[in-house]
Amino acid sequence: MTDFTYAMDADGVVTLSWDVVSKSMNVMSTASFLQLSQMVDRALADPEARGIIITSGKKDFAGGMDLNVIAEMRAGGAKAIFDGVMGMHGVLRKIERAGMDPKTLKGGKPIVAALPGTALGIGLELPLACHRIIAADNPRAKIGLPEIMVGIFPGAGGTTRLARKLGAMMAAPYLLEGKLSDPKAARAAGLIDEVVAPEDLLTRAKAWVLAATDADLVKPWDAKGYKMPGGAPYHPAGFMTFVGASAMVLGKTMGVYPAARALLAAVYEGALVPFDTALKIEARQFTSVLMNPSSSAMIRSLFINKEALEKGANRPAVTDQTVQKLGVIGAGMMGAGIAYVAANAGISVVLIDADQTAADRGRAHSETLLDKGIARRKVTPEKKAEVLARITATTDYAALAGCDLIIEAVFEDPKIKAEVTARVEAAVGPDCIYASNTSTLPISMLAKASQRPDQFIGIHFFSPVDKMNLVEIIKGAQTGDRAVAKALDFVRAIRKTPIVVNDARFFYANRCIIPYLNEGMRMLAEGVEPALIENAAKLVGMPLGPLQLVDETSIDLGVKIAKATRAAMGEAYPDSAVDAVLFWMADQGRLGKKSNAGFYAYDASGKREGLWQGLAAQFPHRPDPDLATVQHRLLMAQVLEAVRALEDGVLTDIREGDVGAILGWGFAPWSGGPFSWLDILGAARAVEICDGLTNSFGPRFTPPKLLRDMAASGESFYSRFAKDKAA
Ligand code: NAD
Repeated sequence: MTDFTYAMDADGVVTLSWDVVSKSMNVMSTASFLQLSQMVDRALADPEARGIIITSGKKDFAGGMDLNVIAEMRAGGAKAIFDGVMGMHGVLRKIERAGMDPKTLKGGKPIVAALPGTALGIGLELPLACHRIIAADNPRAKIGLPEIMVGIFPGAGGTTRLARKLGAMMAAPYLLEGKLSDPKAARAAGLIDEVVAPEDLLTRAKAWVLAATDADLVKPWDAKGYKMPGGAPYHPAGFMTFVGASAMVLGKTMGVYPAARALLAAVYEGALVPFDTALKIEARQFTSVLMNPSSSAMIRSLFINKEALEKGANRPAVTDQTVQKLGVIGAGMMGAGIAYVAANAGISVVLIDADQTAADRGRAHSETLLDKGIARRKVTPEKKAEVLARITATTDYAALAGCDLIIEAVFEDPKIKAEVTARVEAAVGPDCIYASNTSTLPISMLAKASQRPDQFIGIHFFSPVDKMNLVEIIKGAQTGDRAVAKALDFVRAIRKTPIVVNDARFFYANRCIIPYLNEGMRMLAEGVEPALIENAAKLVGMPLGPLQLVDETSIDLGVKIAKATRAAMGEAYPDSAVDAVLFWMADQGRLGKKSNAGFYAYDASGKREGLWQGLAAQFPHRPDPDLATVQHRLLMAQVLEAVRALEDGVLTDIREGDVGAILGWGFAPWSGGPFSWLDILGAARAVEICDGLTNSFGPRFTPPKLLRDMAASGESFYSRFAKDKAA
């Protein structure tokens, strides 16, 4: 079985068609790369062959590198990675030179890439080595180099070629941010050369091959007198670009993403030397990134395990539970968002609220989002009409007849929720699964209001629903397998990422995030400079500092949660020091971003201006601890809670713990998640840090037994708990 097929037509044009039989999307493996190389050799050696079209037998060109190849390369160590990458450079360089005389640059055979659809990663790096890139006008296609999103960078010449093709400035969004474009935008940016009607793709590619001259095959960087667009580093304009780029990259990544830095170094150093040397530099930088534990942790969590969870790694083996008709009760912020994502995925939705105006307002939320999509040309008016037609906004529970899933998103009040459960169960069929979107109330407790507790489950969305990709599924004590499968099949249909956890206070995500917020407020109360707290968090890769995050989620919500937790825990309540801060802020009327006043000051339009000066008088500044201590406190507060969640059986799969942490609350993505971070650190070092923190700051940092055991045995979480040993 070959991944490429070779066919030559009567005019001597060879078509190499890429079609990995076992996969719906082409991915490049070591074996397929070898086949490609051999077929290119064959065409270059065949005097009858006049040129080559590289295309795909599928609707898309390619999704990228098979990440297992990267895992294999890493297993061989730095030398194996470097040699493997240089081998790929050799093949792609052979395509680029296409048999031409190295001195005269004449006599090569034209090679064109014809892209029917999406072309990502190596799926664009290969075309960049060809002499022309023609794409079908397919607005759904995505073209780009997303490697940076999983902690690596384009290492098969894509970095060096794109920087030389577009210049460092224009290539930056594609290389540094992993920007993806549709074919027309990619053409406008200069990423590809031509866009044609899909039915003309191969005829146009062939016509180009037959008409190409020697000069058409010479890449600018192989021609005499090449100058980098926008200027190389020692050109005045280039100098400005590179100085700015360093600052921008460090500003955005806070220096915690090794890939961004290595990429920039590869572009900068590469721009100062001849092309083939630049490829060698790219390979060295790529090797160093692959050897960094951050890249393997990011690939594992953000790609391999995220995909495994989306495909149902923890789905019980029951029959297909595809949702046909969804009922959403409560058309407020969450209910309206849930109705939108479901209708957008083709599911019919009945959206119920206590009065018709509220129900209509909930449906209007979808209209607003669809209109925004139209303005950004992502949604057509027809699509808007279709989606809206799927949402029925009503107060009438009888409309729920025929629903196979209900998601309740009414006020966070057990009494109201219980009434709603009873009303819904009277209106739906006996097989309907019932889910609550509660963020704090135990599912097992809410299920008491149900006649069918085995069909009762938690489906916890994060706000805003249309943007946040994590969905936490919570099993109550009596929740059955079919309810779990229904929830998972629903999450799959709306293309989000699920984690399945057991019932406990705050489930998983909120359980870990609250100690982070609290630790930030504790430090403020202790007199730590607030700017140090916020910056320490960002410098360790948290997207928002704890004080900013409290402002975003609102002080009054914090107060509400604190009061409820104190009521539930009684004497054992450990967070009085935090409440002193929260309650004082609430008393000042500083409720966070929504009131334009919180730990930060905001201008009249709601723009954040800086930390509120009034904090200094209330929380007098004492000598600051060092940066590492602040960072350890902020990270360990979250991470120890994750370990306890695993120890308690709330989490049953560390993959969910890691993926859920990054997608749910932005836990330092460079680390791969809390368990990956502990593995990078080593359990013994983690215990040592926590023992130190316990001595200085109290028993909340006491290492859980599990962590101590692992420190003693020298195990890592992924060696002890990984379900998929290959990951
Ligand atoms: P919201 O106040 O915006 O919306 C609640 C809606 O429920 C309102 O439109 C209200 O009219 C309606 N409602 C109240 N009683 C009703 C009844 N008896 N029958 C029908 N409709 C009724 O609240 P929200 O922020 O959307 O939160 C809803 C639920 O989702 C809560 O359980 C909350 O804890 C949970 N949640 C909220 C967030 C968040 O960030 N806001 C995140 C996750 C989960």
